[in-house]
Amino acid sequence: MSFKLPALPYAHNALEPHIDAKTMEIHHGKHHQGYTTKLNAAIEGTAAENQSIEEILQGLDMSNGAVRNNGGGYYNHCLFWEVLSPNGGGLPSDDLAQAIVKDFGSFEDFKTAFSNAAATQFGSGWAWLCVQSGGKLEVCATPNQDNPLMPEVGCGGTPILGIDVWEHAYYLNYQNRRPDYITAFFSVINWEEVAKRFEANR
Ligand code: MN
Repeated sequence: MSFKLPALPYAHNALEPHIDAKTMEIHHGKHHQGYTTKLNAAIEGTAAENQSIEEILQGLDMSNGAVRNNGGGYYNHCLFWEVLSPNGGGLPSDDLAQAIVKDFGSFEDFKTAFSNAAATQFGSGWAWLCVQSGGKLEVCATPNQDNPLMPEVGCGGTPILGIDVWEHAYYLNYQNRRPDYITAFFSVINWEEVAKRFEANR
């Protein structure tokens, strides 16, 4: 089986003004496509060809740089497009909202913790909201294309929200102003999708 670049669930310009069309076009069409192509090349003829991307990441040999970087890049961006929406922003509801209050104190406290993790990740990487089995929520950050599904990476939970803080995710519009991009990200979070992932993995 080979992995395919998923179609974006909205137009390139749909997240403007928060994320610009040119960034989306290059990020999805070039960067994510690149990870997809290289992942397929890296697993060709190996047992990983018959595994899901989650199975590949969970069972990863961390010394396998090609699968680590490109498998992570493939999975991380698949999640990223899904947790964004032109109709996003606002606040989570129901069980997820209650879990956030329980584990972070308030939505604002969660936002601060997540934003700090994203802002202080040195160099390229991601910040995550993860759910542990049992339902506990946790924020962590990982370098490069690492992902908490990988062995001994981050908080070890299942990521249900992630922000890409590689410069390719924001540099055209925000240059070095990563904090402004993080603030804007909150205006396009698809909380319905995050809640679905919370329910599925809690
Ligand atoms: Mn990216």
